[in-house]
Amino acid sequence: MENAAYDVIVVGAANAGGFAAGAAAEKGAKVLVIDKKANSEYLYRNTIASVDSHAQQRAGVKIDKRELVEFLSAFAQDNVDQQLLWTWVNHSGEALDWLEEKVLKPNGDHLYATGDAYYETLMNKAFPSGNEITADEKAWDWGWGKYVIATDQALGVEFQYNTKLEHLLTDAQNRVIGVQVEDTETHAVREITAKQGVILCTGGYGANEALMQKWAPTLLKKNTYTQSPRDDGSGQVAALEVGAARDLEPASIIFDRGAVPVGTNIDDYYVKDWQSHQFVLGSYPLLKVNLRGERFFNESAPYQFAMNSLMHQPGHLEVMVWNAKTMDNLKQFHTLGCSRLGWPGIFSTDGEKKLLQDYLDKGYVQQADSIAELATKMHLPVDQLTKTVAHYNDLCDAGKDTDFGKEAYRLFPVDEGPYYAVTLGGILLATLDGLHVNSQMQVLDQHEAPIAGLYAAGNCAGGFFWGAYPDRVPGLTASHAVTFGRLAGQCVVDA
Ligand SMILES: Cc1cc2nc3c(=O)[nH]c(=O)nc-3n(C[C@H](O)[C@H](O)[C@H](O)COP(=O)(O)OP(=O)(O)OC[C@H]3O[C@@H](n4cnc5c(N)ncnc54)[C@H](O)[C@@H]3O)c2cc1C
Repeated sequence: MENAAYDVIVVGAANAGGFAAGAAAEKGAKVLVIDKKANSEYLYRNTIASVDSHAQQRAGVKIDKRELVEFLSAFAQDNVDQQLLWTWVNHSGEALDWLEEKVLKPNGDHLYATGDAYYETLMNKAFPSGNEITADEKAWDWGWGKYVIATDQALGVEFQYNTKLEHLLTDAQNRVIGVQVEDTETHAVREITAKQGVILCTGGYGANEALMQKWAPTLLKKNTYTQSPRDDGSGQVAALEVGAARDLEPASIIFDRGAVPVGTNIDDYYVKDWQSHQFVLGSYPLLKVNLRGERFFNESAPYQFAMNSLMHQPGHLEVMVWNAKTMDNLKQFHTLGCSRLGWPGIFSTDGEKKLLQDYLDKGYVQQADSIAELATKMHLPVDQLTKTVAHYNDLCDAGKDTDFGKEAYRLFPVDEGPYYAVTLGGILLATLDGLHVNSQMQVLDQHEAPIAGLYAAGNCAGGFFWGAYPDRVPGLTASHAVTFGRLAGQCVVDA
């Protein structure tokens, strides 16, 4: 056993972990961060939510805290811990200000607050919570994770990569006193102790199909891809071994843009690759039909709702149908986040056209001169798709979606060729249900009492989300990770 040179061990070197380590080190702790992989910089995300960050104050963005907490509680039907929601609302600004002042500005970056999150229906109520990491307000800085790690190192934090947590070490009173780890290259096993505590920041479990079957079987049906291939749930399993409690119902963040080959059976299609076939245009509220060729929902709904709706449709996949004319009118759909046209998105009309050509070349998107030909290529009933498209065009002409209530500005006819179609399923970004924690980020046991010495933050911690992710509060998962990571680092030292 390595003797207790460390006060705090943080497991996981990405979003929550990087912030936890820096916060503990700032308070004078000797901190070790371990990560099972060889790197973690690229996992740091670019849109991070907050309430009242300095960047938001500069931009004049104001969010009513109570309204936001009520929205999040209602969104989750109160299957969450409201104390955690308030803790996030009250601390997210401070976490983002630390990021901007201590990490980004010394490296030429800053935060840019996005203020244009609004929608006009109840289904699409949105909050301007996003802060984007940028140097020039023309593009994201994808590489900022290295600045967090360098800032932590300057504070004295030590990083050991290729070092995987296998089990937690406890004393006779079940206090967590360290970790048993395996070197992922040599497979050597060793034990490392920590005087003050261990913070789990190990993310979700979406790449572990056995855990998915146990904790969230419907997610295997809703998703065709997972973009977090290293999420094996091992941190949560280690906590369960020492008596931790975890959420009983699943929560997740899903994108509705996983392009799959025509004829895919979702029951045996689950690809674990961060470079999955993400067809960004799939998140545009264009005409979408089920595998019978029928329209079945309001395409303006949050990303994840589409995948939920599909659980009531045959084959659990949708087909998006549009035409070449649509490609020159993408701006009018006013999508947010990474499907947005122009900064702070990454797409332009030319970029989307290039993507379309790429997916045509790969065979995921099919092109035809008539709807009947398109239906045949997509294995859809010709008569039904022809009828659906004609009726949709009538709704567009009338400017009113009397079937499902999509906003008038998002009704665009599919009335002349060339026509396109693509089959879409969900992309799981991360699972969000996890270990029970209190507002000090202490992991709780089956009696909701803290397990001494054990903390958790980020996607391995629960109580904050339930069911679908509220994507109209942009950046909330990354902010949940960094805000609570920072709090965990402070609380473990203060305990
Ligand atoms: C492509 C993509 C883009 C995204 N973009 C955004 C965005 O812009 N805004 C947003 O809000 N959310 C975004 N998300 C979601 C967001 O990344 C996560 O919800 C959140 O940031 C996760 O942070 P985390 O620290 O909990 O986990 P992670 O970032 O997943 O980090 C977990 C770390 O723990 C390590 N680890 C796991 N198990 C062990 C073990 N046993 N031993 C040692 N190390 C271990 C892993 O290797 C990993 O480095 C995105 C997700 C994806 C997939």
